[in-house]
Parts: sequence; structure tokens; C-alpha cells
Amino acid sequence: MSDRNQKLNMISLGCAKALVDSEILLGGLKNENFDITKEPEDADTIVVNTCGFLDMAREESIETILQAAELKKTGNLKQLVVMGCLSERYPDALAEEIPEVDRIFGSNDHKQIASFLTGKDYAKDDPLFYRSLMTPNHYAYLKIAEGCDNGCSFCSIPIMRGLQKSRGIDSIMWEAEKLVDQGVKEMLVIAQDSTSYGWDLKPKVYLSDLIKSLDGLDIDWIRLHYAHPAHLSQRIIDAMTEAKHVCRYLDMPIQHGSDKILKSMRRGLGQDGIRDRIHRLRDAIPDIRIRTTLIVGYPGESDEEFKQLYDFIEEIEFDRLGVFTYSEEEGTLAEALDDDVSTDVKNERKAQIMDLQASISAEKNDAMVGETYKVLVDKSGDTVSVGRTEFDSPEIDNIVHIKGAVEKGQFIDIKIESANEFELIGTPV
Ligand code: SF4
Repeated sequence: MSDRNQKLNMISLGCAKALVDSEILLGGLKNENFDITKEPEDADTIVVNTCGFLDMAREESIETILQAAELKKTGNLKQLVVMGCLSERYPDALAEEIPEVDRIFGSNDHKQIASFLTGKDYAKDDPLFYRSLMTPNHYAYLKIAEGCDNGCSFCSIPIMRGLQKSRGIDSIMWEAEKLVDQGVKEMLVIAQDSTSYGWDLKPKVYLSDLIKSLDGLDIDWIRLHYAHPAHLSQRIIDAMTEAKHVCRYLDMPIQHGSDKILKSMRRGLGQDGIRDRIHRLRDAIPDIRIRTTLIVGYPGESDEEFKQLYDFIEEIEFDRLGVFTYSEEEGTLAEALDDDVSTDVKNERKAQIMDLQASISAEKNDAMVGETYKVLVDKSGDTVSVGRTEFDSPEIDNIVHIKGAVEKGQFIDIKIESANEFELIGTPV
């Protein structure tokens, strides 16, 4: 390579946890005179951080690698590196199928990748690189643990990310303080199961302890994601209630609502247990917004089990909801089950749930019309800007269309004038 700085393009696929991995690597390479470019066409080196969670995600990862490989033939590209969950799981198949890839790494090889790209040696116990954010500067994900011990029957994440490894509270607070110092106003706490945070540490600590520590920071919003209903303890609910900066928001995937299916999924609690957790949350924080995620079409899901799920969603009225159709994952317990629900039925059931949720969401958003809410501006436009209330997480939840040009990264009070299923429209007060 010539003596000018190498141009690197980082393509980060998959979840927010993978995004943090990409940011850590970028942080390390920025210190090594790599110029980061957002344009793959301009890059000397491309790093693709892959996702291996579901069939669709794997297809997208492979398609992205192939597009990058094409640039080696037609463009400036000199080096193509692949990392993340898909290459953690299938390194040999990837190397065979796409020989244009120069090196394949796993999901936790930040230093090895930096060594390969810089020629420098990074010792195993060298501190991990401080991140270079790929999110807008006013919000950042805070990964508190890696891996998962739960072993849900349908899930391949423990195969790709291993068993749970929680970070120490000191290490998390060191990072959180640096994020606040650089202007982050919203921190999104993530893990595979944030509610079992610290159980693997000696001495054991709890998410409630971490919440108390984070709440001492000069931060506006702390948002909790990936709660497991079976592990949502009263002490966590109390810590959320007592905290000053924790959003009245919780992302808590329940996956299903039928006891028979929840048992087969090895979710560790049934419909009554989920209902109890939600009631306790809503009793403690009356206007909390709860997001959840479901899987439809799981093996053995008859019309009866689906009806139990549908009725439960109708009863609970989640504020935010996402639905996946079941996809059989190699190496999971559920792989041994007969994937007996047809694709058409899976898609039909997903559509039914999303229709139900759209009407629930529209009704809840209508109730916000006429009220004024504190909004964090994510995008600034000449005539219309876009932001979120504390009840909405970036990329996945509702947005607020703000009439007028308001500054990105700022909080502003917005009077809501109209709404639809997934959007609020309002004017600065
Ligand atoms: S809690 Fe279950 S679904 Fe979530 S990462 Fe762990 S094993 Fe997978």
C-alpha cells in the first residue's frame, strides 16, 4: 500500500450488539491512520461485519460480501475482510464459496483484525479499543454483556456468541462516562438478555446495581433493551422506578403467548408469568411503553396455539411489537422438531398480528394528540425534521415528524397535532 492513509469502509449488518463490535474495531483503526469512508467504491479495504441469526440475515450478509468482492474486480478495493456471527459459524464454507475474501474472522476478534490490517501486534490483555460511533453522536448503544445462557430452543445465538460473559460495572461505567463526555444524551443498554446481567460475575451483581450506577451520570435518557420476562425481577423494576434518567420504556421479547409453545421454546415461564411481569411493570410505572418481539409458525403451532397468542396480544396491548416467522436453525434444539407450519400460514399469521398491532398502536398514538412531549431530534430537515419521544427507540419504534427545521441532537418540546399507527406529527412549542 502507498504511504497515504488507507481508506476503510465498515459495513455493519445485524443487531446493535454487532454494531458496537464494528465501532470498537473502527476506534482501533482510526488510531492507526485509517481514513474511514462511507463509500465502498472509494475504499482500499472493506470490512463486512456479518449476521448469522436467521436465513434472511445470512442471505443479506452473503449478498453484501459478494457485492464487495465485485469491487475487487472493478474498483479500488485491495482487501476484503469478513467478521461477525456468520463467519464465526461458517468460516470454511465462506472461504470456499467466496475466495475473494482475504481474511475471515469471528465475532470477537477485534485485535486480530487490527493486527492483520495494521501489521501491529495487539497483546491479548491490551485494553480493547475505545469505540468510534456509527450512530448519530447524540445516542449510543452500551453493550453490557456478550453471549447467552438461556438456550431457547429456536435460537442459534449461543452457538455464535457463546455463553454469557458480563462486563464488570467499572468497565461499563468507564465507557459510559466517555460517551457522556463526548456528548451522548441517550444510552441504549443492550445484551442478549440484559436482565441476567452480572449473574456470571464473581461476586454476582445485578442489572439493578448497574442501573443505579448509570443513573448517576449526567445523561438524559437511559433505555433498557432485551429484557427476558423470566428474569425481570422486582428489584430491576424498583431500580427503573427510582431512577431519574431511565426511560419509561422497556424492550422485552416474549416470543409467544401459548403455554404449550412457550414450554417447547424453553422460555422458562408461561402466559401467566408474562402477564404478571407486565402488570407489575405497569403498576410501578403507569405510562411505561413496552416493546416486544414474537415468533409465529413455531413447530406445533396449531390454529389453537396461534389463537392463544393472538388473544394474548389483544389483551395486553403492547405499545411496540415486532414479529418474526419461525426459521429452522441448524444446531438448535428446535431443529429436531417438525417444521410443520407452511410458509404461507406463517406469513398469514404474521400479517394478522401486525394488523392487530397497527390498530392498537393507532389508538395509543391518537391518545397522545394535543399533548406536549420532550423530543430528541435525530434528523434535521429544512421544512420537516424527525425525532423521538422517550417512548421510542431508534430505528425500530415510532417517530415524530416535526414541522420546521430544528437542530439535530437537541431536545425540544413538541405539541402533537396528529398521529397514525407509527408516527406522530407536531410543532415545536
Ligand atoms: S434469550 Fe433466548 S432468544 Fe435471546 S439470545 Fe438468549 S437463547 Fe437467544
